[in-house]
Amino acid sequence: MLVARDDPLDTYLVHHPEALLGQPVEGTVFDPDNPYVLGPHLCAAAQELPITSKDLPLFGPGARAALDGLVADGMLRRRPTGWFWTDRNRACDLADIRSTGGAQVQLVEAGTGRVVGTVDGGRAHTTAHAGAVYVHRGETWLVEELDLDDHVAVLRRAEVDYTTTARDVADIVVVEEREHQMWGRCRLSFGTVDVSNQVTAYLRRRTRTGEVIDETPLDLPVRSLRTGAVWWTVPDDVVEAAGLTRADLPGAAHAAEHCSIGLLPLFATCDRWDIGGVSTARHPDTGVLTVFVHDGHPGGAGFAERGYATAREWLGATRATIAACECVSGCPSCVQSPKCGNGNDPLDKEGAVLLLDALLAAAR
Ligand SMILES: [Zn+2]
Ligand SMILES: [Zn+2]
Repeated sequence: MLVARDDPLDTYLVHHPEALLGQPVEGTVFDPDNPYVLGPHLCAAAQELPITSKDLPLFGPGARAALDGLVADGMLRRRPTGWFWTDRNRACDLADIRSTGGAQVQLVEAGTGRVVGTVDGGRAHTTAHAGAVYVHRGETWLVEELDLDDHVAVLRRAEVDYTTTARDVADIVVVEEREHQMWGRCRLSFGTVDVSNQVTAYLRRRTRTGEVIDETPLDLPVRSLRTGAVWWTVPDDVVEAAGLTRADLPGAAHAAEHCSIGLLPLFATCDRWDIGGVSTARHPDTGVLTVFVHDGHPGGAGFAERGYATAREWLGATRATIAACECVSGCPSCVQSPKCGNGNDPLDKEGAVLLLDALLAAAR
């Protein structure tokens, strides 16, 4: 029995059960050459057994450069017999191999100072800011203060009848296009981008109805991230020929972006929280309508690259999910996203289908 939730991935699987039940075991997506991934793993390996020159091929072509970097940073020590971990702490405590979202923030109970958990540095801005309702192991907490210098969020237990969602502004700059293919006059690209993101406020919503109670501004620094992204562009005249007006574009692109993020986990073994997106009716680097989906980890984790490699199927499934959803103007099963920094506005469900049709018309 399959119990579906309100999200695009589950919606797609309900309509296409063969995508889940008829498939061979999926390949895990992982970029072992990403220095942000490789470095911590080398530390953890060296702690178990010093790494010798003979071991290097096991860790891939980037291993030697990564080891040199770790020696220069004082993480490992080079001796004639190999590379040694000399710290008394466990490597996996210092070098976070589970995720690479920056230094962990400790969740500390007000009054007692008890550490109740940790949250990724990158996620702390959106989930552990002052005033946030934080659900941890089924218990509801209210964050009193987020101290980014000391990597600590102070919180206390609370029973509240509202949830909080962060609002943010994101900007993305293309650093390098590494690959591209033309789909007619539309362009699909993969490469490196700089994403900057600032959480500017949060909304309180009634738990029962989702109704917005109020919005409170926040003063948090801009975070930036250099990572991998897949992006696609549609030129103006193609957009026009598809029957979309200028006013439709922001909502259409945004809706297509959301649903594609929701579906990428079907093609790359990731969670929708591991990836992010930015869409714009006109991007300064491309000059035309552009939708980006990027890895949420520094250096990229390979998810966007997998999206690029499977783009026709991935974006085709995105189009199919939006078109098949029975809602009127967008719902969490198709184009709404629980992590949208814009409060799911604007979203244009019909426009997204037209836009994806225009993009996919000449897809290869
Ligand atoms: Zn829907
Ligand atoms: Zn959004």
